[in-house]
Amino acid sequence: MLNNTIHGVELIELDTGSPVGAINTYLIFGEKLTLIDTGANLQKNWVLLKEALNKMQLTIYDIDQILLTHHHVDHVGLLDRILEVHPIPVLGHPNNRPWLLPDKQFVEWHHEFFQKFLSEFGIPAELCGAGKQFFDNLQPLSCHHVELSLELNEGDTIPGLSDWKIIETKGHAQSHISFYREKDQLLIAGDHIINHISSNAAIEPPMVRNLERTKPLIQYMENLKKCVNIPIDTVLSGHGSTVRNLKELVTDRLYGIDERASHIKEMIKDNYKSGFEIINDLFSPRTVKEQLMLVVYETAGHLDLLLDRGEIEEIKKGDIRYYRSIS
Ligand SMILES: [Zn+2]
Repeated sequence: MLNNTIHGVELIELDTGSPVGAINTYLIFGEKLTLIDTGANLQKNWVLLKEALNKMQLTIYDIDQILLTHHHVDHVGLLDRILEVHPIPVLGHPNNRPWLLPDKQFVEWHHEFFQKFLSEFGIPAELCGAGKQFFDNLQPLSCHHVELSLELNEGDTIPGLSDWKIIETKGHAQSHISFYREKDQLLIAGDHIINHISSNAAIEPPMVRNLERTKPLIQYMENLKKCVNIPIDTVLSGHGSTVRNLKELVTDRLYGIDERASHIKEMIKDNYKSGFEIINDLFSPRTVKEQLMLVVYETAGHLDLLLDRGEIEEIKKGDIRYYRSIS
């Protein structure tokens, strides 16, 4: 296990419980001892966390509060176990709420939203339960009983961490925030900025039933550009290594998105295609089968972008949406 300190912030590497591998959680020694993110709900992580704290002559009981970058299970899963023995405040964006304490109404709305969304995307009926399946598969790794103690939004300062402030970085998740310390230009960026992979901009059901969904890839791009305009020297990410060349990384990410968007535009130059047809042109049958939700997010995000730029049009035939380039 890797343990090290960057700018006085202690990295504690835990497990995501998925092929992604490790997740970086961080301990900040501010006026309050603050843990950022928790790892997935795994016995292994519970042991690793206690061992890591032990090496610093600390225990779970020394932690004063937990800050969340976003609601994904590898970042929040261990909360139930920690709070059960040591109930402390949990701080994060208000959009974490339904995921940390999912009630029946929210879960039903989530499944209904994806059933309709996938169906309109042209996904065959027998695969339209994929949204529910994806959600259900993640549940054992998540927490289920956590009330957010304090909501953090753009520009907010953080109690017990007076040097730090919140930068909202939605896109990868609708609950995503990052933590910025101006004096040494340090950003703890969760999954907004990752060195070795492009962050998936996940489609999420709107927080309120029947509102229009947000367009996460467009948000993600805007928030990458936002970060470039802030003096940032070092980025500590939710996965992988420290980022020191943020401008270059953002240029690469935006270029990659533009490339894929152009590719999709080319694919629908002559004929209308549904989302599912585009997915099958873009990805191998195996990837489509094994990672359906991820390829839907990826493709839907780029279609949002092309529609937003006025480069393609969308029509509805029956219940299915079809796309074609505007030349
Ligand atoms: Zn995530």
